Amino acid sequence: MSDLPKVALVTGGSRGIGRVVAERLAADGFAVYLTYVSRPEEAEKVVGAIEAKGGQAKAFQLDSGDREAIAAFFKDEIKGKVSLEVLVNNAGITRDGLMMRMKDEDWDKVIEINLTGCFAFLKESSKIMGKQRRGRIVNITSIVGQMGNAGQANYCAAKAGLIGLTKSAARELAGRGITVNAVAPGFIETDMTAELPEKVVESMLAQIPLKSLGQSEDIAAAVAFLAGPGAGYITGQVLGVNGGMYM
Ligand code: NAP
Repeated sequence: MSDLPKVALVTGGSRGIGRVVAERLAADGFAVYLTYVSRPEEAEKVVGAIEAKGGQAKAFQLDSGDREAIAAFFKDEIKGKVSLEVLVNNAGITRDGLMMRMKDEDWDKVIEINLTGCFAFLKESSKIMGKQRRGRIVNITSIVGQMGNAGQANYCAAKAGLIGLTKSAARELAGRGITVNAVAPGFIETDMTAELPEKVVESMLAQIPLKSLGQSEDIAAAVAFLAGPGAGYITGQVLGVNGGMYM
């Protein structure tokens, strides 16, 4: 084992689920590198919160849609500088609308950020982790990638694609000691779901056996488990954290 800092890289770690995942992995002893795109002040708040508890964190403005910038980030900040132990592919967006009226750019943007961006991070991470012969990758997919959802064809296609990517990468990377799993949140209370109309939330709750929306902490606990010592023999799995909404 090297003396380099043991880093967990969390994309979209400045808000919502990613923020809580970043804080949890820092509490578990990782130096956390988090990415964001538009709100540096939010990212710096997360860094400050982690440091206030004695942890280590750095924030990087890095658009998941910019593959050249992602490659440069790995070359400049990761390769030879840290030991990359964990990648959490969390950054994600929605551009909802019924399929018949969906704009091509809304389809393209969601696939670009939610699927192609994950591929770019996974590809770069796998080169580094492959050399280390050790690593954990957790992709944040969604319950709607498993079930489908009217008005989210782009998002569901990207999230279902991410499950296929997870399983293929798990098979390719297992021989190098790297596990690749997905966590599929149900409906979690974040900025992303705060936009949903009251009626939609009520109809969601009616479909959730555990009768409440999930919290970011529920997702962070699942990610921490898959990144932790107890999950070394688990790969290619999709762990649903959804209150029983999809079984
Ligand atoms: P959120 O509150 O909207 O936060 C999104 C995070 O991703 C922010 O940190 C944002 O950074 C970052 N981000 C967005 N676009 C980016 C880009 N192009 N490059 C880099 N970072 C980018 O979302 P959330 O609800 O926490 O969702 C996190 C993940 O869980 C997503 O993949 C989402 O699809 C998935 N998920 C969420 C739910 C749910 O109910 N909330 C359910 C299932 C799955 P900025 O602040 O800089 O924009």
